[in-house]
Amino acid sequence: MAETTAANLSSIAPLTALTEEERMFQAAAREFAQKEIRPHVEPMDREGVFHRELMDNFFEQGFMGLEVPETYGGSGGTFFMAILAIEEFSRVDASAGVVIDVQNTLVNNALQRWGSEAQKQEFLPRLVRDTLGAYALSEPSAGSDAFSLAARARPDGDHFILNGRKLWITNAKEAGLFIVFATINPELGYKGITAFLVERDAPGFSVGKKEDKLGIRASSTCELILEDCRVPRANVLGEVGKGYKVAMETLNEGRIGIGAQMLGLARGALEHAISYAKERKQFGEPIAQFQAIQFQLARLATDVEAARLMTYNAARLKDARQPFVKEAAMTKYFCSQVAERVASECLEVYGGYGFTKDYPAEKYLRDSKIGKIYEGTSFMQLQTIAKLILA
Ligand SMILES: Cc1cc2nc3c(=O)[nH]c(=O)nc-3n(C[C@H](O)[C@H](O)[C@H](O)COP(=O)(O)OP(=O)(O)OC[C@H]3O[C@@H](n4cnc5c(N)ncnc54)[C@H](O)[C@@H]3O)c2cc1C
Repeated sequence: MAETTAANLSSIAPLTALTEEERMFQAAAREFAQKEIRPHVEPMDREGVFHRELMDNFFEQGFMGLEVPETYGGSGGTFFMAILAIEEFSRVDASAGVVIDVQNTLVNNALQRWGSEAQKQEFLPRLVRDTLGAYALSEPSAGSDAFSLAARARPDGDHFILNGRKLWITNAKEAGLFIVFATINPELGYKGITAFLVERDAPGFSVGKKEDKLGIRASSTCELILEDCRVPRANVLGEVGKGYKVAMETLNEGRIGIGAQMLGLARGALEHAISYAKERKQFGEPIAQFQAIQFQLARLATDVEAARLMTYNAARLKDARQPFVKEAAMTKYFCSQVAERVASECLEVYGGYGFTKDYPAEKYLRDSKIGKIYEGTSFMQLQTIAKLILA
C-alpha cells in the first residue's frame, strides 16, 4: 500500500495526456482537416463523391500509411496516432474519417500483420503512396453472420478462381487493392474462409453499383463482382483456411477506429452547437444564457469526454499489446450511441435552422447513423461484450 503515494502516482499519465510528438501530430491533423478538408465537405456530400484531389492530398501528407514502417515508405507511427487522425478528420467530415480509417486500421493493418515479406514489399509502398485499399467481407446474405459467406475460391494451378458478390464495400469506387474474403469450401464453415489480395485490374473482377446513402455520402460504398476472377496463389493473405482470423482480428482493431470516427463527429457537432448558442438571440439574449441549453450542452460535453476516454484507452491498450477486444467493442458501441445523441440534440439547439442544409447539424446527424451499423452492429458489439464478461 505504501507504494501508492501521490508522488508515485504522479508518474502515471492521465488518459488524455499526449507525448510531444502526438501533440504536434494532432495539431497538424487538426489544421489539415480545417484548411484542406473543410472546403470540400458540403460539395462532396451534395455530389456523393469523394474529390480525387483531396484523396491525393491525404497520400501526399502521409495520412495513408500512418502505422506503416518507414522501410516501406510509411510514417512509422503508432495505432494511437492513426486514432488521433481519424478523430480530427471526422470532426470535420466523417467521410474523410472513414477513408483513412479503412486504409490504416483495416487494409494496412491486415497486410502488416498477415502479409508475407514479398506481399509487404509489393503492396505497402503503393498503399502509402497512391493506392486506396478496401476491405471486402460482407455479402448480400452475410452481414452480421459474416462467416456464412458464399463467395467461392477454387484452386487452379498457381492461381485461385474467385466467384461471388461482395456488398457494401467502403472505398471500392476509388480503390486499387481489395482484401477479399472467400471460402474454399462452404462445408468447412469458418475454417474454409481465406483472405485474398485482389488488384482492381485482376481478370474477372469488377466494381458494381454504388449505394446512394443517408450519410457519409462522399465515402463510396459499392458492390464487387467476382466472375471467374483469377488471383495468384501468392496473393493469399495469411494461410488458406485462416481468413476468419485475419477478418476477426483486423475488425477487433478497426472498431476502435470507428469509435474515433464517432468521437470526432460528436466533437464537431458539439463545437458548432456551442458557437451557435452563443450567437443566436431569443428573448433579448443569447440562447446559451438559458439554463436549459446550458445543461443540454453540459450533458453532451460529458458524453463526449467519456467517449474520448474509452477510445484513447482502447487504443493505448492495443499499442501496449494488452488485451483490448472487450474495450474495443465497448468503445464502438458507446461512441456510436454518443455520436447519434450528440448530433441529434445539437440539431435541436439550432431550432428550425438545424433542420435545413444551411447549417452543418443535419449532416452530422445523418453521418452519425452509420456508427451503429458497420464493422458489426451494436447488437453484435453487445454479443462480444456479453461473451467476454460472462466467460
Ligand atoms: C455505409 C456502409 C459501409 C460498409 N462498409 C463495409 C466494408 O468496407 N466492408 C465490409 O465487409 N462490409 C461493410 N459494410 C457492411 C456492414 O458491416 C454490414 O452492413 C453490417 O455488418 C450489418 O450486416 P447487414 O447489413 O447484413 O445486417 P444484418 O446482419 O441483416 O442485421 C440486421 C439487423 O439484425 C440484427 N441482428 C443480426 N443478427 C443478430 C443476432 N444474432 N442477434 C441480435 N441481433 C442480430 C442486427 O443487429 C441488425 O439490427 C458496410 C455497410 C454500410 C452500410
